[in-house]
Order: sequence, then C-alpha cells, then structure tokens
Amino acid sequence: MTPKRSEALQQLRSEIVDLRESPLYAYRVENEYFPVIGQGSETAKIMFIGEAPGEKEARTGKPFCGASGRVLDELLESIHLSREAVYITNIVKDRPPKNRDPHKGEIALYAPFLERQIAIIQPTVIATLGRFSMEFILTLFGAEEKGQKISQLHGKTIRINTSYGTAQCVPLYHPAVALYNANQKSTLIEDFQILRAFLSGDDV
Ligand code: URA
Repeated sequence: MTPKRSEALQQLRSEIVDLRESPLYAYRVENEYFPVIGQGSETAKIMFIGEAPGEKEARTGKPFCGASGRVLDELLESIHLSREAVYITNIVKDRPPKNRDPHKGEIALYAPFLERQIAIIQPTVIATLGRFSMEFILTLFGAEEKGQKISQLHGKTIRINTSYGTAQCVPLYHPAVALYNANQKSTLIEDFQILRAFLSGDDV
C-alpha cells in the first residue's frame, strides 16, 4: 500500500542487520540473536519507543514480546488498540548484555535509525516508554521539557516540531515498572487513557 515506506524500512532493516560497527554486534552473533528493528503498521499514528531489546526480544526479533510486552499488550487492550495498528520499536536495536542500560555510545550509534523510522512512519503521537526514550525524543526535537524527570512528565502531552509537521510526545513509564509496582501499573493504565484522545477513525 505504501511501497516507499516499505522500501525505506526494508533498507533500514538490512543496514541494521549488517551493523558490524556496533559494540553489540559480536554479542548478537555469539548468541545467535536477532536485531529488533520494529513491528507494526508503517502508517501508524502512534509510535511506541522503548529502550532496548531483552533476551526474549533478541531471540525472536520482535519488540516487547517478554514480560514487559505482556504488560504493554494489556495496556493497549485497555484502550482497544491492537499491536497491528501501532508501531513499536526501541532506541537501541540490539540487546545489551544482561539487560544493562544502554551506553551513551550505543544510543548515539542507533539513534539515526530511530530518527529515520520516525521520518518514514511520520507518527502524530510518539509515546515514549521509560526515561531513556523520553529524554531522547525531547532532546531530539528540542522540547523545552527536556531534562525534566519522568515523574513530572508522564501522562502529559508535549508538542514537538518534526520534519513532517507538529506531533505530540506522550511520555509514559516503562511497562517493566508495572511488573514490580502495582501503583505504577495503575498510573500507566491512567496515562494510557491520554492516547485515546488521539484515536479517531479506523486508521489509527
Ligand atoms: N524493554 C524494552 O525497552 N524494549 C523491549 O523491546 C523489551 C523490553
């Protein structure tokens, strides 16, 4: 339906598959992992951005398919959204060893790929999952809220000026927090309601 977007995403995929300069490449190969590039609709209005793949994601090549993914699925269901209707990706496309936080250099290396995914898909809403992707997106688009804590910004709608026009950033806690903290899960459920406001018509 959108050959240009498909082609551009396919090109991006093959570049990441061949990304030998990544410090995470050897770890990927040793473990027979896959890079996790992104999943969902290439015309999605809402793009979710997490941090980096975990073990299950790296084994399958699919974002958020482990424990955090089950929480994300629940949250999506709570607003009647399917995974197919949105696009889900991460900043870092390869699994950091032992699920450690991504290093600055890793974020810098993978960031241009995320920027290209955003420019190709042109989401009107960028929902960041966790503090890393929130800070990355707010900095990338020069939002004045950058540098503020996720505890201050979660569930808010922040206007951002992208190369394809105005969009909104909605910072959300990472779904993993809900695994350990029931209060945070209620907060996430509440914050997800914000996204409903952006859903109109069939082609979410
Ligand atoms: N956590 C993330 O940030 N991304 C995933 O894909 C899985 C877990």
